[in-house]
Order: sequence, then structure tokens, then C-alpha cells
Amino acid sequence: MANTKYIFVTGGVTSSLGKGIISASLGRLLQARGFSVTIQKLDPYINVDPGTLNPYEHGECYVTDDGAETDLDLGHYERFLDIQTTQANNVTTGRIYQSVINKERRGDYLGKTVQVIPHITDEIKRRIMLLGKTGKYDIIITEIGGTVGDIESLPYIESVRQLRWDLGHENTAIIHLTLVPYLNASGELKTKPTQHSVKVLLENGIQPDILVLRTEHHLTREIRKKVSLFCNVNLESVIQSIDVSTIYEVPLLMHEENLDKTILEKLRIKSKTPIKMGPWRDFVFKLKNAKKEVNIVLVGKYVELMDSYKSILESLVHAGATNNARINVECLHSELLNSTNISKKLDGFDGIIVAPGFGDRGIDGKILAVQYARTKKVPFFGICLGLQVAVVEFARNVLGYEDAHSTEMTNMTKHPVIDLMEEQKGITEKGGTMRLGGYSCELYESTKVYRAYRKKMIRERHRHRYEFNNDYLTDFEKQGMIAAGVNPESNLIEIMEQPDHPWFIGTQFHPEYNSTVLNPHPLFVSFIKAAIDYSG
Ligand code: GLN
Repeated sequence: MANTKYIFVTGGVTSSLGKGIISASLGRLLQARGFSVTIQKLDPYINVDPGTLNPYEHGECYVTDDGAETDLDLGHYERFLDIQTTQANNVTTGRIYQSVINKERRGDYLGKTVQVIPHITDEIKRRIMLLGKTGKYDIIITEIGGTVGDIESLPYIESVRQLRWDLGHENTAIIHLTLVPYLNASGELKTKPTQHSVKVLLENGIQPDILVLRTEHHLTREIRKKVSLFCNVNLESVIQSIDVSTIYEVPLLMHEENLDKTILEKLRIKSKTPIKMGPWRDFVFKLKNAKKEVNIVLVGKYVELMDSYKSILESLVHAGATNNARINVECLHSELLNSTNISKKLDGFDGIIVAPGFGDRGIDGKILAVQYARTKKVPFFGICLGLQVAVVEFARNVLGYEDAHSTEMTNMTKHPVIDLMEEQKGITEKGGTMRLGGYSCELYESTKVYRAYRKKMIRERHRHRYEFNNDYLTDFEKQGMIAAGVNPESNLIEIMEQPDHPWFIGTQFHPEYNSTVLNPHPLFVSFIKAAIDYSG
């Protein structure tokens, strides 16, 4: 692309205002106007990637097809834009410093003192420009994580300031997202936090072009004028982002507020095609007017923070809309399940998901949930650890290997039905060393998964160290749990299913990373269909 345009999205006042959703919504609208768009996230923390972060703290770790462990916002980008992101789409301070320090050790700086400016900022700028250099995109949106004014955000804001000079104002635009709180006591919306937040940006040499204001109540023209006056942006650049019932409505609301039109004017470009949001509108309509209802339980151990299972929850939303069904999801902590309460806890659900996870905490509750699904014939979907637990349950309760287990949980078992992958033996470092990213999988005809995908070769993303132990395959298949898909190169079993059960499927990969609004994932669609049938 001769002239790639760069949009930067910053946030002020508080975190969790939804920069990711605003970035993804804008990306979707620009795409709908004929532009090729990608979105990148810069995270100011020092971890090299979020792979080593506890899901309680940071929510899900999203995995790209090329094997990067990334921030969950990349999931929103892919789901909204129906694109694939890459290693280059998520950069952290840790990664920036790692590159600079590696260069310094190699002697690349030729004796110079290595400093935040220019060396760190140059590396940030290089990473921002990297996606532009691929020549694939008309527009690149860069979301800056954190909140303006934080110490750790400063080098990023400085890099954006410099890039505006390097690239020119007509090639860059800055959107600042803030909060307009409502004070109950006085019944007023307050603009002061926004004014202060813009001041902080100005102190750092940045004048935002557009302000997106998160609010619980509609902004009056007076409020917008006040913000416009105090923050040096014109009235049409003050955009309201009101709370909505589903994140998928945000692109439509941003379009009503003319965010896409305003940004194109700032960038001095014209829409390539008339805007096409038809399929998106259909999806939102279906979502809000679903006729049926199904109850799904997600059994996991990170249930206190729903963001830990973000992609699974969104995949269920996509599959629900496709099936004209509203999905009620309840997350159940597996540690709370025991043989006395299991029937009571799982009664009334039309589908059971056992979630991905690590370590043995809560594992017994997961095994009980699988047993319940298997024996009561409730549709069951096991994802990654969920598959592994299903294998352990089958080995113990059907094959009679009482102490069967995954060697992740114990090395004492006589029946290691789930075992460490060969390539993992000898690995000691934790960061970025799992089997990560997209691998192909060949499906066996006459399986349920084949009927769901309607093709033989698929590609899905992985994040694990353990695998099904092929020494046991014949035992399993004889008793009714079969391999439904394998990796053709390594022979690793990627999917198992139980043909005698209405819907019992476990996948070693994470299908949830591949579900988008415009292409809901076939396994989730099929699972929800089975749950609807089960609900009668
Ligand atoms: N802990 C398991 C493994 O490493 C499963 C991982 C997961 O569920 N993502 O193989």
C-alpha cells in the first residue's frame, strides 16, 4: 500500500473503558468501507508476552495462528474483523526492552549510551511501522494499553508524538477514549475528568483529533460543546459511546455517531466503497431477537474473572445467533463440585463445557462433570484440558484403570493416558515454550466433527504441553471413545468423540480462537444445535 494511514487509540481517566472494542468497531467500519485494516495492541507491562500471566489478573491469553501468546483484545480484533493477527500485532514493554538489550549486547549501538529516548522509542516506532511495511494494509489501528498519565505509558505516548511528525498529520489520527461519569447526587454528567485527561496528553505533546466518551447517559449538545471547547476538538469529533447490551452493537452505534466518516476526513481519504454492514446488522438482529433459549454450563477454575474464558463465551454468542438461540452461560467452579452435589449442580443444563486450564486444582470436579455428561447423555464439549479430563474419566470409569491420570497432575499413575509430548521433554523455561498456534488436523469421515466442519483438512490453534497417549488408543476405541481427528505429521490425536453419545466431543486444540461474527465456528454451532435438541 503506497500510503498506509495510522490511527492511534489512547485511553484516559480509568482502565476498562473498552478501547479494544472501540478499536475493533472502528476497524470493522473501515473494512466495511473497502479498506484493508489490521489492529495492533501495545501493552506497557514488562512481561515479554501475556503467556505467563495468571488469567485471574489479565483474563484469557489469546493465541494467534502463528503461535503468539497475546492479549485478549486481539481476540476482539479477529472476531470483529474476521482477520488473522500475528506476532507483530501485540507488543509489550518487555519485548521492546528485550530487543534493545539484545542489540546492546551484540554491540549494535557502537558505544553509545542506550536510553529511553531515542532507543526505546525508536524500537516502539519500528514495531508500529512493521505491519505497515508488509504492504498489506490501507489502515493500521494501534491501541495503546494502559491509561494516559501512567509512568509506564510515557514512552509509547512519546513515540506516537514523534510518529506524527515523521509521518505527517494527514497520515495519522489520534482517538482518545475517556469517561464521562454521572453523579447521582447532583444528577449530572461530568466532563472534568475528560478535560484533565486531555491536558495530560497535551503536556506530552499530543492533541487528540477525536474524543470518544464512555457514558451511561446520553450526552447533551451542551456537554459535547463544553468538551469541544475545553479540549480543542470540533463538535463532530466528540463521539458518544453509550453502554449497550452487547458489544456487537458498538460498531453500529459508532457509525451513527459518524466515527468512521470523521476519521476518514481527518486522514483525508474517501471511502473506497459504499459502506456494507448488512451481514453485521443481521447478526445483531438475530442476537437480540433469538426465539429459543439454552442453558450452558462452563466448568472451570478461573470463573471469578469471566474474561478468563472470553473467546469461549464469544464463540457461544456467535453460535447462539446462528441457531437463533439465546445462550445463558453459567460458570461453575470445579472445586465446588463433589459426588454428592454433582447431579444437583448440573441439573437443568442443556450442554456442558469443561474449560481449558493448567494444574490439578479442581480436577476432580471436572472429572465428575464429564462423568455426568457421559452417563446422562448431555451434550459435552471438552476443550484442551477439557478433552484430557474426558480421557481420564473414560479410562477410569469405562476402561477400569482406576488410577489413570494425566502426568501433568501426577507421575505416580500406572496409566498415564495423557502424557507430556515428546518435544516438551527437556524444556524448562515457561515463557512461549508450549505447542503453540495453528496445526493441521485430518478428520475421519463418518465422525460428528467431520459432519460439523464438512471438510477433511482443518487448521486449529493450540496451547498445551500434554497429549493423548497413543498407547491406549486401541483400548479406548474398542470401548466407544474414538479418535476423530489427528495431526497428519506428528500423529498426535487432536479430537476424540463418543459415537454412542448424542454429542460428546473433546478437542486438544482451542476452536474458540477461530470463531468470528461473520464465520461462527462449526463445532460451537453444532454443539449449540445439540443443546437445543437436548432441551427439547
Ligand atoms: N494443561 C494442559 C496441557 O498443558 C492443557 C492446556 C490447556 O487447557 N490449554 O496440556
